[in-house]
Amino acid sequence: MKKDTDSKSHPDLVADWERLFRVFIRPEGQASRATLIKYMDRILYGLNDFLKKHVGITEAVSLKELSQNFTDTIISDHPEKKLTDVISCLIKEIAPYAVNVASPYFVGHMTSAIPFFMVHLKTIIAALNQNVVKIETSKIVSVVEKQVIAKIHRMIYDQTESFYQAHVQNTETTLGVFVEGGTTANLTALWAARNAKFPPKKGFNGIETEGVVAAYQAYDIDRCVVLVSRLGHYSLRKTVGVLGIGNQNIIPLSTDENNQVDINALKKTIARLKKENPKICILAIIGIAGATETGTVDPLEELATISAKHNTHFHVDAAWGGPTLFSQKYKHLLKGIHLADSVTVDGHKQFYMPMSCGMLYLKNPKALDVIAYHAKYVNREGSVDLGIKTLSGSREANSLILDSALKIMGAKGYALLIDHGIETAAAFAKEIKKRKLFQLITPPVLNILTYRICPAKIQKKLDTASVAQREKICHQLNQVNRRLQRIQREAGFSFVSRTTLKLKTSPKNSSVVLRSVIMNPMTTITILNEILDEQEKIFNTQLKGLLE
Ligand SMILES: *Cc1c(COP(=O)(O)O)cnc(C)c1O
Repeated sequence: MKKDTDSKSHPDLVADWERLFRVFIRPEGQASRATLIKYMDRILYGLNDFLKKHVGITEAVSLKELSQNFTDTIISDHPEKKLTDVISCLIKEIAPYAVNVASPYFVGHMTSAIPFFMVHLKTIIAALNQNVVKIETSKIVSVVEKQVIAKIHRMIYDQTESFYQAHVQNTETTLGVFVEGGTTANLTALWAARNAKFPPKKGFNGIETEGVVAAYQAYDIDRCVVLVSRLGHYSLRKTVGVLGIGNQNIIPLSTDENNQVDINALKKTIARLKKENPKICILAIIGIAGATETGTVDPLEELATISAKHNTHFHVDAAWGGPTLFSQKYKHLLKGIHLADSVTVDGHKQFYMPMSCGMLYLKNPKALDVIAYHAKYVNREGSVDLGIKTLSGSREANSLILDSALKIMGAKGYALLIDHGIETAAAFAKEIKKRKLFQLITPPVLNILTYRICPAKIQKKLDTASVAQREKICHQLNQVNRRLQRIQREAGFSFVSRTTLKLKTSPKNSSVVLRSVIMNPMTTITILNEILDEQEKIFNTQLKGLLE
């Protein structure tokens, strides 16, 4: 073992106090300042080369080949590299094999370009290194966080000025919390819903203390369920798993032809569940505002009415679609969101923040009291410590990034991004419809759409074919689209993702579809046409034979 680590070490480098002090260097003297600036300069310019490239999910070097260079598991005793060499290595050896999600040709996922000022802001956050878990390690950040949370809350819930004055800096109440992402935000929402459903009472100390078994006994309940469209994000299954509700109790509801949750199906499902088992508890109904696969939005007002009728928590998963509220033109698509008891929004999606930032908003500023924890040495009761009501303990000051971004962009700036995404997606849908080779599967409501290769001739055939014939055609189409997506990805010029959906023409099997997410302001209809051209070319030269 000794021999191994010595051979890795840089011959001139030893781990000693002198060197150690140097890595804690601050830009105090002229010389150290110049050094630090030089490094920053190299990082920014070095990575710019990377950002100029195509999307680069290239299989010129496969993941398997790459992984062979990353099998050494011994930490060397002495330093292996100087900072300057580490920076070179990251720029020259790592970045070229990372994915250029900022490319305007990268239209497959919800991760995309970020404004460059985010890199500056992230640097400040790292330099300040505040820990928002407690006031003693964050101070002013805690009040900035409360303020920016109130701003977004206002965008969602639009309460009165006096409401916001009463709560914006109120240490007893919580309008929302910063978390890691949509998954944790959804978890926090259902955690609060669960604890509110099974509160302490005489002879029972509450579900948080006594656990699920005791809670069900105390309240004479057999089973808790959560109802959401079949397009619900899979994080919801994780959350009920973690909460002890059991992920088989996420009940997927069918959707209508617009991919919105089918309200009749919801009503029928509730009636059936209650009839089957009178001791059932409907813990929550969830509406999606921007489904991950199709970008569609559920009828939130109707869901709110049904939730109220059954006295159940109404959560809206707006991880993706939340910032649509910036757009005066399109915010009506989220009509009814203000009726939600809780709303998930992701910062690292359409707020264009760097990884990783999620948020949860609450209609009732007291709603998170049921998940409050107090540790004597960290947060004393009645303190402003923000770690009291979040799952995570230590966390970074994402509020400073969001607050600064809102100031730099303005609501109108964000609205321009949202409008561009929605309108470019609509134009893209038009182009897809124009081309005989393609079939638009889910028209965009927000900025996500799905389509597939399915020549007009075959579309016609599907209309009249027998069930058996249809399944056969579906199988062939799946093969074509699956391969198309892979070939295009491997070529490394552009990237669309793929998913599977249940289509009317082939209800038994899942159909493979191509999925585009348009959020990069640099993605134009010209670029999207190039992507379609490339797909046509791949089909005509390599895949045509797969279709009869
Ligand atoms: C992305 C997304 C999530 C999960 O969010 P993460 O930030 O990846 O944890 C949940 N719901 C929806 C609708 C999403 O789009």
